[in-house]
Amino acid sequence: MRKKIVAGNWKMNLNLQEGVALATELKAALAEDKPNCDVVICTPFIHLAKVADIVAGTVIGLGAENCADKEKGAYTGEVSAAQVKSTGAQYVILGHSERRAYYGETASILKEKVNLALANGLKVIFCIGEVLEEREAGKQNEVVGAQLADSLFDLTEDQLSNIILAYEPVWAIGTGKTASAEQAEDMHAFIRGCIAGRFGDAAAENISILYGGSCKPGNAKEIFAKPDVDGGLIGGAALKCADFKGIIDAWK
Ligand code: PEP
Repeated sequence: MRKKIVAGNWKMNLNLQEGVALATELKAALAEDKPNCDVVICTPFIHLAKVADIVAGTVIGLGAENCADKEKGAYTGEVSAAQVKSTGAQYVILGHSERRAYYGETASILKEKVNLALANGLKVIFCIGEVLEEREAGKQNEVVGAQLADSLFDLTEDQLSNIILAYEPVWAIGTGKTASAEQAEDMHAFIRGCIAGRFGDAAAENISILYGGSCKPGNAKEIFAKPDVDGGLIGGAALKCADFKGIIDAWK
């Protein structure tokens, strides 16, 4: 049975004290009312070590939002996969559309990052998704299929077992525009088909595919009810405990 997951992506929000307060609030809320899914929070690098102490021994997993495409050395300002792992984090988001669009992360850079993350024992939440013009031109499957193939298809089946996919239509991220549950399901089923074609039916059946893009407590239940949607990657709504918990509760 593949895992149901709700993962938060704090992006470049919250100072250290605010992040500690949010993680502490979430820990208390989920201790009182146990989730029916895996829960992960992905934070800026500066929060990781402190938040790792807060969530240790709880149901909450911890991830970074990025890691370097180099192992170590003279790369000022970068943070390696090994450094992320050493904080106590277990996950890293890679391939987010904001990293692809604003920081020029290409498929080959992402391939390096994925390999380093996996080699350092991190699970990767790998984001894929089309921009509005691509959807309007009916090219969403072509685009997403290429993103999968270009960065992930050289992995072994064993490596793939540490990948979680997040379908995030770029036109739905932070815009308040959500893909309909049907649009999400169509794409998730397509993605699962691509994984089956390359890695086989068992791998496709076991991989979790999250939806991301303006997911909120009010729409999560309908989207998560679709058979190929295994949870969500949540941006804005992960910054308030009540909203994030409301999405986690969509699995109840
Ligand atoms: C995201 O950027 O991963 C995301 C899903 O953002 P939002 O929920 O704010 O649309």
